Amino acid sequence: MELLKERILREASVINNDVLKLDALLNHQVDPQLTMAMGNEFARRYSEHSITKVITVESSGIPVGFTTALALGVPLLFARRKKTLIADPDALTERVPSFTKGIVTDIMVSRQFLTGSDTVLFIDDIIANGDAARGLIKIIERSGAKLAGLGIVVEKSFQAGARTIREQGIRVESLVQIASLEGGHIQFL
Ligand code: 5GP
Repeated sequence: MELLKERILREASVINNDVLKLDALLNHQVDPQLTMAMGNEFARRYSEHSITKVITVESSGIPVGFTTALALGVPLLFARRKKTLIADPDALTERVPSFTKGIVTDIMVSRQFLTGSDTVLFIDDIIANGDAARGLIKIIERSGAKLAGLGIVVEKSFQAGARTIREQGIRVESLVQIASLEGGHIQFL
């Protein structure tokens, strides 16, 4: 998505060889028009899949998950991050390490909102090692729902997440792919 590449070059900053700061676009401030364009693009790429629900992880996946769901005319479901694990028989829970925070969090989806009759599109902001994505994929599998694929705004292709998920046979569509952040330069694939 050329428009997104331009915005990243203008508004993102390279923190180190592994981390890109995207607060101006994704993780702190959001541009509604740009986020609508992202949602329309994901909806277009998955238009043939009869998606019944868009799923994401709170919090940075929610704006683009919302616009994708709006474009597809289906609900948005977001996995909640729980600080404590109180046994809830109605919840599907996975523990995932956080790439940026260096902690583990538990993500939770209520069985009430994800069932075997759903076909879901999983939208997220950034993929690095893929831990967050793998956690939510496990929850989707345990729910019995069908996973149409992933829609990722920024794929850091030099980290293993997207590649290993594709190797599992799961479709991953990324709006931009970053090959390298070495030397403070953003290199697209
Ligand atoms: P993963 O689980 O794939 O290693 O990391 C995914 C999550 O970590 C993303 O949803 C995002 O919130 C955060 N993250 C990973 N890499 C970056 C990065 O380069 N910049 C920012 N701002 N967040 C990142």
